[in-house]
Amino acid sequence: MKEKIDVLVIGAGPAGSISASMIHKAGLSVRVVEREKFPRFVIGESLLPRCMEVLEDAELLEAVKAKNFQQKFGAKFLKEENVADFNFSDQFSKGWNWTWQVQRAEFDLTLATEVQRKGVQVDFETTVTAIKFFDDESSVTTVQRLDGSTEEIAARFIIDASGYGRVIPRLFNLDKPSNLDPRKAVFAHVKDIHRDNFDEPNRIIAIMYAPGFWTWIIPFSNGVTSLGFVGGFDYFNAIPGDLSAQYKACIEGHPYLKKRFGDVEWVWEPRKLEAWSATTDKFYGKGFVLTGNVTEFLDPIFSSGVMFATVSSHLASKQVIRKLKGESVDWDTDYTKVVQQGVDVFRTYVMAWYDGTLEKVFFSKNPDPMIKSQVCSVLAGYVWDQTNPYVREHHVALKRLVKLIDVNERISRN
Ligand SMILES: Cc1cc2nc3c(=O)[nH]c(=O)nc-3n(C[C@H](O)[C@H](O)[C@H](O)COP(=O)(O)OP(=O)(O)OC[C@H]3O[C@@H](n4cnc5c(N)ncnc54)[C@H](O)[C@@H]3O)c2cc1C
Repeated sequence: MKEKIDVLVIGAGPAGSISASMIHKAGLSVRVVEREKFPRFVIGESLLPRCMEVLEDAELLEAVKAKNFQQKFGAKFLKEENVADFNFSDQFSKGWNWTWQVQRAEFDLTLATEVQRKGVQVDFETTVTAIKFFDDESSVTTVQRLDGSTEEIAARFIIDASGYGRVIPRLFNLDKPSNLDPRKAVFAHVKDIHRDNFDEPNRIIAIMYAPGFWTWIIPFSNGVTSLGFVGGFDYFNAIPGDLSAQYKACIEGHPYLKKRFGDVEWVWEPRKLEAWSATTDKFYGKGFVLTGNVTEFLDPIFSSGVMFATVSSHLASKQVIRKLKGESVDWDTDYTKVVQQGVDVFRTYVMAWYDGTLEKVFFSKNPDPMIKSQVCSVLAGYVWDQTNPYVREHHVALKRLVKLIDVNERISRN
């Protein structure tokens, strides 16, 4: 075994690259092990402005800028003739008013390559298979390469950024079921040849297609668009045919989608993902911290996944640095509670999306501009801004607003 490194990062997705860059910037030794060969496909293409602060502090922003990804200025929600257009420039919280829509294979490769360029060792096609923790919180991790050879890596601390791999929760039985209903997504990249006749490319569009069933449209800068459908299993089970037939039927079944995408070519055949919501008993333990999707992933509707991945790994790395430099860290207060608070805000909005509450808010006649700006900040990922009542009082604020909207609508009808 080689000498002990300060930090081993598992996974080179956005969470892993942010962590590695932060640890390296602090002058500690760090190594990343990644199961796949990059570029590799992963879903999660629409970012939120709150990511930008983290990319900047981790000194990864300029590398991403150089890739000319599609800029994203907002989010638009459609239901029949109703439109709710949120422009991040109108948001209540102070912060970034734009971000990107990215092909994740390219985005994640850019981050990992920049981390390597800074001097961090990133081993691809290297899978974590076992970890042993010791009383002093250090560990030995066993990794396996494609050729079957193994290596043991000794580290003072581990950051688990393994996303859907959920390495530490799986190895140590920390997984816990989510309280959200299981859902399924069917998606592909399509050649968006009619884009200019329909909408600007600089925002994500979410279409409320049917109760509990919605569509994402995420245009990229190369003329290709990510088009996906999300809903309960029953909805998909009721559509005959294989995945491609179901995907085609979903396009044909909606007038807007049929006109825009009915005759376009797919860049690749539709793929599916199922039952992605997951969480764990705890976000940290002796000698490790979990970041990104490993902590909790809710639902794709508000594009919050990469935002949580980057923000949580940024915060986790700061605590790891403090700890390895001899400070005492209160992981509950300094990490878990902070991440959980943001997750809880989005959980309220995700539930409100599926139970119809948000529909009333988004499509109310004459929305109050201040309230709209506050909801817009949530959609931009600023879910830690306690000056925003739609963050601070998220449990009750939306329900209160819907009651007010109902009263106003009754008054204007009479
Ligand atoms: C249908 C759907 C749509 C989504 N849309 C969006 C969206 O529009 N916007 C958004 O922000 N998010 C979206 N997400 C969420 C997004 O996919 C994730 O939140 C995001 O990828 C999390 O990043 P991460 O760095 O935590 O993990 P990942 O990006 O999953 O990276 C983890 C890495 O760890 C590696 N790994 C796994 N196991 C091991 C192992 N044993 N050893 C070594 N390496 C390992 C993996 O190969 C992987 O590269 C969506 C999710 C779903 C399900």
